[in-house]
Amino acid sequence: MRHIQRLHSSLASKIAAGEVIERPVSVVKELLENSIDAAGTRITVSVFQGGKSDIIVEDDGTGIPVDELELAVESHATSKISAERDLESISTLGYRGEALWSISSVSRLEIRSRTPDSSSGGILSLQPGEKEPRIDSINCSPGTRVQVSDLFFNLPARRKFQGSARGEFTRISRLVRDFALLYPETGFTLIHDDRDVFSSLGCNTKREVLESIWGDEPSVLYYDLKENGMEVEVCYQPFSGKRVNISTFVNGRIVRDPVIRAAANACDAGLSGNLAVFLNIPSGNVDVNIHPAKAEVRFKNSSSVFESVRNAVTNVAGSSVQEGRNILAGSSKSGLQSMPFSWNGRSYTQGTYDSLTCRVSAPPPFEETSEKRNIAEEEKSQVWQIDSADFEDVTYTGQMRAGYLVFEKGRTLLLMDLHAAHERINFERVKASFEKGIKKQVLTDLQPVSPSLSEFLEEHAEELSEAGFGFVKNGGSWFISEIPTFLADLSLGTLEVLRSLIAELESCGSLSTSLERTLWLKWADMACKRSIKLTSRMEAEEALSLYRQLEKCNNPLFCPHGRPTLIFLDLDRLTREFGRK
Ligand code: ADP
Ligand code: MG
Repeated sequence: MRHIQRLHSSLASKIAAGEVIERPVSVVKELLENSIDAAGTRITVSVFQGGKSDIIVEDDGTGIPVDELELAVESHATSKISAERDLESISTLGYRGEALWSISSVSRLEIRSRTPDSSSGGILSLQPGEKEPRIDSINCSPGTRVQVSDLFFNLPARRKFQGSARGEFTRISRLVRDFALLYPETGFTLIHDDRDVFSSLGCNTKREVLESIWGDEPSVLYYDLKENGMEVEVCYQPFSGKRVNISTFVNGRIVRDPVIRAAANACDAGLSGNLAVFLNIPSGNVDVNIHPAKAEVRFKNSSSVFESVRNAVTNVAGSSVQEGRNILAGSSKSGLQSMPFSWNGRSYTQGTYDSLTCRVSAPPPFEETSEKRNIAEEEKSQVWQIDSADFEDVTYTGQMRAGYLVFEKGRTLLLMDLHAAHERINFERVKASFEKGIKKQVLTDLQPVSPSLSEFLEEHAEELSEAGFGFVKNGGSWFISEIPTFLADLSLGTLEVLRSLIAELESCGSLSTSLERTLWLKWADMACKRSIKLTSRMEAEEALSLYRQLEKCNNPLFCPHGRPTLIFLDLDRLTREFGRK
């Protein structure tokens, strides 16, 4: 461990200058970085009133020798760099020697610290306005405890612009979780107003920490890529919503990086959910000394970063894209036919396709109660019930080996994609029963809500109860006590739907639109998953029943994803194709 020393003025002048402490979370960030640089294995962050009254960060790291305490709070005094060339490859999170000094000038600061090899520690207290800090010796355990009180007490204007305690705390809790993710081998604990809010054990893998934060429903997808001399690790939790929440990390730092973001957005416009990108790049290839709060970096070769991140995100996203999602309405590329817009005397225009790109009517809750059952079997029996209506006008000709069903109706030959047709039928059934109203089901076992969702519940619990969700709060943790019955009826994951709803609420703020949109997407997927496969073999009666049910649908010509259910070949066309005309 190097000693703290004042940086030479020529080196100090090369350090990115500017505001470091903007709000409580900036203090927490600086103090956490110091604890990590000091190799702390257990770090506890306690904040009061969202950090506006007190912030305490405690670690079990290397400590500060008593005789260096005074230097530690001076401007441009650091143990992490000493010469200009050190700026070329910074391997610690801090290097500016400015944080403690900046904090001390806008708050009351107290530092208690002891190095592991000394028998007692030191306590420094510094009130703004006082020239000299007071330093005494103290009995304390090895490590460092920094307490920052009354932040901005001497800057009333700045104080006025702080958010609510809850808003400030949300920022802090995201930050602590991000650090827990970056340093899974370090144990982090976060306490707010004396209540435990989050902790990581410090012996987990990144995946375990990530899943404790995001939850594992829907499943998180991972992709690791080593190319162009760098390593890109991508974690993606897809769920429906209008946008993707991207977190970007470079060499163990939490940064806002436009290159990584642009690369992620370039790979697939349809990305939605949570995305975390971890980039590890040789320290000589990245300049971290460009932003006073170390929130941005500059790459030597940003085009290769862009390319590698895009490749990694494309890979991880590719594994989540469902077949149907990419095959939206303009699907008559098959060349075989042009899509008819009338069938059985009804006409259908592009606007009536309720594919995922076109919204239709209001959302609909489910009626049936949920029981464990074999959905596939039930679906089958529903579809195959033939109520001896006449099919005189249509003849079933057979099934192609590839699965398509062939019908003849009047002067037209019809080819049916039985999976797409079944999807459409399911979709409309679900929609019809949903329209009868939301019913709630009380859970016998409370289901815990993952930390990344909990923070939104303070704000949205009431709106979500209109969508059929009930919550109870125990200590600082949230639990689900009631769910809408349609979740079980549709075999939808509780947390998955909740997450989608919250994402929607956050981005568009209105429940009716959110619920509608989220469920809309879910139904389409659900209808797809529950539908029979194209390759299933069918008896004539079954095929005719399917045809009949499709005919009754409001939008029979397309599946909910927008793929055609039927292809029509009329006699005129056949005659032409055979050269008879
Ligand atoms: P920087 O981190 O950029 O060096 P700071 O003002 O944050 O500047 O800290 C000044 C110095 O105080 C650090 O270089 C380090 O030597 C010491 N220090 C600060 N916090 C801790 C800590 N938690 N444990 C050990 N040393 C610390
Ligand atoms: Mg620091």
